Amino acid sequence: MATVAEVAVAAPLDKTLSYKVPEELIATAIPGVRVRVPLGRRTATGYLLAIAEGSIEGLKPIKEILDTERLFASGWTEFIRKAAAYYRYPLGEACRTALPAGLAGKGSDVRILHEKVYTALPGEDSPSGRKQQQLLALIREKGEVELSELRSVFNAPYAALERLQELGLISVRDIERSRDPFRDVPIIDETEPVPDTSQQVAIDALLSKLRENSFAAALLHGVTGSGKTEVYLRLIAETVAAGRQALVLVPEIALTPQLVSRFRSRFAHRNIVLAVLHSGLSDGERYDAWRSIARDEVQIVIGARSAVFAPCDNLGVIVVDEEHESSYKQSEGFRYNARDLALLRGQAAGSLVLLGSATPSLPVYRRACGTDEMLYLPLSGRVAGRKLPDVEMIDMREQEACGALSPPMLEALGHHIERGEQVLLLLNRRGFAPYLICSDCGFGLRCPNCAITLTYHQSARKLLCHYCDFDQVPPDVCPRCAGHNLLPEGTGTERLEDELGKHFPDCRIARMDRDTTTAKGAHQRLIDRVMANEVDILVGTQMVAKGHDFPNVTLVGVVDADNSLNFPDFRSAERTFSLLVQVAGRAGRGDKAGRVMVQTWSPEHYALQCAAAHDYKAFYEHEITCREPLGYPPFGYLVNLVVSGNDETKVARAGEVLVGGLQHYGREVEVLGPAPCPLARLRGKTRNQILLKSATRMPLHRLLQYLGPLTKEMPAGVRLTTDVDPVDML
Ligand code: ADP
Ligand code: ZN
Repeated sequence: MATVAEVAVAAPLDKTLSYKVPEELIATAIPGVRVRVPLGRRTATGYLLAIAEGSIEGLKPIKEILDTERLFASGWTEFIRKAAAYYRYPLGEACRTALPAGLAGKGSDVRILHEKVYTALPGEDSPSGRKQQQLLALIREKGEVELSELRSVFNAPYAALERLQELGLISVRDIERSRDPFRDVPIIDETEPVPDTSQQVAIDALLSKLRENSFAAALLHGVTGSGKTEVYLRLIAETVAAGRQALVLVPEIALTPQLVSRFRSRFAHRNIVLAVLHSGLSDGERYDAWRSIARDEVQIVIGARSAVFAPCDNLGVIVVDEEHESSYKQSEGFRYNARDLALLRGQAAGSLVLLGSATPSLPVYRRACGTDEMLYLPLSGRVAGRKLPDVEMIDMREQEACGALSPPMLEALGHHIERGEQVLLLLNRRGFAPYLICSDCGFGLRCPNCAITLTYHQSARKLLCHYCDFDQVPPDVCPRCAGHNLLPEGTGTERLEDELGKHFPDCRIARMDRDTTTAKGAHQRLIDRVMANEVDILVGTQMVAKGHDFPNVTLVGVVDADNSLNFPDFRSAERTFSLLVQVAGRAGRGDKAGRVMVQTWSPEHYALQCAAAHDYKAFYEHEITCREPLGYPPFGYLVNLVVSGNDETKVARAGEVLVGGLQHYGREVEVLGPAPCPLARLRGKTRNQILLKSATRMPLHRLLQYLGPLTKEMPAGVRLTTDVDPVDML
């Protein structure tokens, strides 16, 4: 009998491995650290999950322990085991995805910032120069001073400090310093609003659940501007007061600086420590944040989807804001949905899980309203008696030929700008034009790697594939007929900005999309400019629809509502509905009433009609009548299998074999396909999909157990990816 470690190795293995813990590592081999272990002929990184006494016969030894303190505790281990099993993803690779980036290799790639702290010692100060005297005086006055502070007062103090040290007048020690990139976010001095009646009802219900200290789930269904955030803030304040932690998930942290600053404002001065996890963090910063959370030094964690893995040990509340957002789903590798994992985690940790949305996803709404598994908390009006904006539909079929903007839209723009108000224009398509087409022969330029047309970006003078990032300089002549009339077709945000400049030459126009926000801080600067009224018209993709609170925006225009409606996906109506409700929610948030105009070729579509009427329930009722006969969620569960590879014939054959195998194992699950994916070619690979559909979850997961053996029979060069509860099936 000796010490055996259970290790999840970061490799595509379907189980954990056992290793012997050598004598000299016994003290440091604790669950929750990373280790280096032999794997076949190489050495791999793994995660030490558990320690037990057992036989070490035939076991290889752990080579090295990579951390001096644990990165996660046992509750976290149980959670990641369940998560990996649910999404059928190798546990070690799931751990690697969940732990902060930069940890995949050895610990040495992470920089830890150190800071020197100087302390005054008793003693006579006689020999010394002026700078030394001044330094010593300051250190004596404060008792203890950090180097960075001394640097901000004195020019190059280091030599003088060393001299003082030699004289025994001060002592120095190193402290570890966490980098908090939100240190500089201004803390606004906001007065806490008094909750209105419906907020108070929701808060009371949540607090009584919170006091039960066990798992519970709730949906806060509040229209835009109904004050959902205030409910989160009150709930979290109570959670922290009760000595537990709060985790707040938001769809894209970089796009929600206003939310972060409200949290900072509410909690920072109460000595509550907030960690913000976002994509702008360096590896070192992420590692710092992770460790302080694991050490229980943090009370509130805010972050995007990967924050669902934060190593909090005592979670009282998990909030998932805008739970319907598809960005909660990771679209590659470990394809988890952070909203669903939040529920799983809450169950394991005994936390209250609060999902918030103005347009809940159908399964969540159905659960909240139709079962007692989830509490339903509606906020039906905007705060302070503010009205939801009026929504007008502009039927493009009735408009005479025009550019991207119809005459009524242009007229409204003119009015609002003249009054000194701001306008937001949504066009969910970046670039100048989605096609470059030869007007002589009709040829359109396509991506050589993907089954998709290239988007024309004018200012960058590029044709760009939005899927694989292939780019080329636009040709002067048509590659097919050598004609000289290659023309941009259709309108993207770049072209819209151009067109607006022609209509309103004196206007200050800005654009917010992926192309204008890649530079660090660019997104925040745009928001600041809009807030400071330095922009009259903000044009952008769905980025402009996200959570902003611009009080002077009174008109929101949707340029092309049909764009998302015509997507080949059963959720296209739902996506269109929520996008319209979200963007409409940006209008009239201040004291002035808001107005929304929607240009469309199908004004009678129920998704548009219901969005215009701000009627979620009507939309839901209609939408479920479309989904129920087809067994789509919320009436069934899906798994999407994609078979891909360079060789078209092999891919097709492997798909057939797989379907045959799956059908052999069960009748309860419908096995559809193989059929070409809507994106039949991507990055040079042929892609076929097999859709598994089942009315209940159990048979589906039972069937998935056979996938492992079936995958092993696949020919070389063919790959299978499994997507449980797929969101994007292109
Ligand atoms: P939502 O997230 O539901 O869209 P927010 O939480 O952003 O709405 O609230 C919108 C605005 O209303 C914020 O500026 C917030 O400070 C303010 N607010 C929230 N609750 C109240 C209240 N009870 N009375 C007055 N203002 C409030
Ligand atoms: Zn491509």
